[in-house]
Amino acid sequence: MRSENPVMNKILDAYKPMWSLNHAISLMGWDFETYMPRKGTEERGVADSQLRILHKDLLLNKDFVGLVESAKKMGSLSDLEKGIIRVLNREITTQIKIPKELTEAESLERIRGNMVWREAREKSDFMMYAPHLKKMIEIKKQIADKIGYEKHPYDALLDKFEEDLTVDDLDKVFGALTSRIQRILKKLVDSGSPFCKESKLGKSKYDTQRVDELNHGILALLQLDMERFRMDVSTHPFTEAMGLNDVRITTRYEGTDFKKSISGTIHEAGHALYNLQCDQSLSVTPVEGGSSLGLHESQSRFWENIVGRSLPFVQLIAPLIRKQVISANQATDDELYLYFNNVKADCIRVDADEVTYNLHIAIRYEVEKKIFGDELSVYEIPEFWNDRMEQLLGVRPTEDSQGVLQDTHWSSGLFGYFPTYTLGNLVSAIIASKMRKDLDGYEEDIKGGNFEPIREWLRLKIHQHGSVYAPKTLLNNTFNEDYNPDYFVTYIENKYLGS
Ligand code: MG
Repeated sequence: MRSENPVMNKILDAYKPMWSLNHAISLMGWDFETYMPRKGTEERGVADSQLRILHKDLLLNKDFVGLVESAKKMGSLSDLEKGIIRVLNREITTQIKIPKELTEAESLERIRGNMVWREAREKSDFMMYAPHLKKMIEIKKQIADKIGYEKHPYDALLDKFEEDLTVDDLDKVFGALTSRIQRILKKLVDSGSPFCKESKLGKSKYDTQRVDELNHGILALLQLDMERFRMDVSTHPFTEAMGLNDVRITTRYEGTDFKKSISGTIHEAGHALYNLQCDQSLSVTPVEGGSSLGLHESQSRFWENIVGRSLPFVQLIAPLIRKQVISANQATDDELYLYFNNVKADCIRVDADEVTYNLHIAIRYEVEKKIFGDELSVYEIPEFWNDRMEQLLGVRPTEDSQGVLQDTHWSSGLFGYFPTYTLGNLVSAIIASKMRKDLDGYEEDIKGGNFEPIREWLRLKIHQHGSVYAPKTLLNNTFNEDYNPDYFVTYIENKYLGS
């Protein structure tokens, strides 16, 4: 984009090399998870940390900081320009506070710790990974101290992923959410709900190539622009946007329980659509991505769950499923619907259903809050984790690979990230509630594969803005809401209890 304002143009020009470094770091991150040979790890660690240092040098260059400072004082900026300055200013103030050595230590530990975590998870050996977790937590505590916070050290880390998010916000969210979800779960189980009956479809094997075709069929239905988008395979599905016109997702093929692969694909496609539908004028600017991780997750969860696990959507893709999955070739639409929406309290977060998912996040939130509040040591985590699993979900992991070792996040230095999954779920329900009031033929459109009205609604309300607005501002301006859990609880009650 070009601005009327010469200072803004100078800022955007100076930002281009930083954007390019981000572009390269993203591409390397995608490659690390997909195609990089295993022994490339150490070298990749060096390259990654060096590029980040280069990025930091450019960002903190005196002239650049001076330009951003002078733009901050200008009264006549547009919303877009204000967004650019807000995002840059956030990055500068955070980075100024974090010394080079800490950035480098984190980057190196991220690569090393992640490799050890992978092996430790395979062997289900928490003690093998514990020294790395301890190291990463020490680094993160130092970072939190350098960034600074008003009330809780964890606030400093939360803000990185969700602007202005605090422990106070999350205590309010989980305080209002956890017990209500537990009650719903209990009702479902006690009443012998058909949603709780495990489907035999989850047990049977599938042909990877045919489910890959099925996934591509679904992407075609969702009309993702294949000239700006691609899908590969990785152990943990993710989305990586190199820019607005090169957005990549991955999916997974485990050979059984085909809904995991389908849901994973739809989830990541939802993330991708957010980037793909940002206004093109935001390309190569600091505001080209989504507003926050929570908002991003609201898009993936909206498509994965609210659309993807709805009866009309299952009816839409049922013929594709019956064609590509041999074991499902006789399954009725209703059987497929119950299979996609099976509710079961279990140990693994990524396999969790809509009802129990946020309970998994509640536990991770409690653990992280306690770690950074100095209330829990590394060696106490597994038992605390298992106790809380038993209390909230009624299941106790028998192995650390089923418990504390299951997620990649901590080994990658991602503390403060998990809560954004729950925020995404909550916001997806807010979106669905507002959208249904605006779009008359919502369900018929889904059943008929006409996603244009939904996509356009999302584009106008959320996607086009990129990160011009902070998440709390966007939620307030667009929906007159905050991370209000009521919509989600109502959605779950209506869908699963039919009330
Ligand atoms: Mg996601």
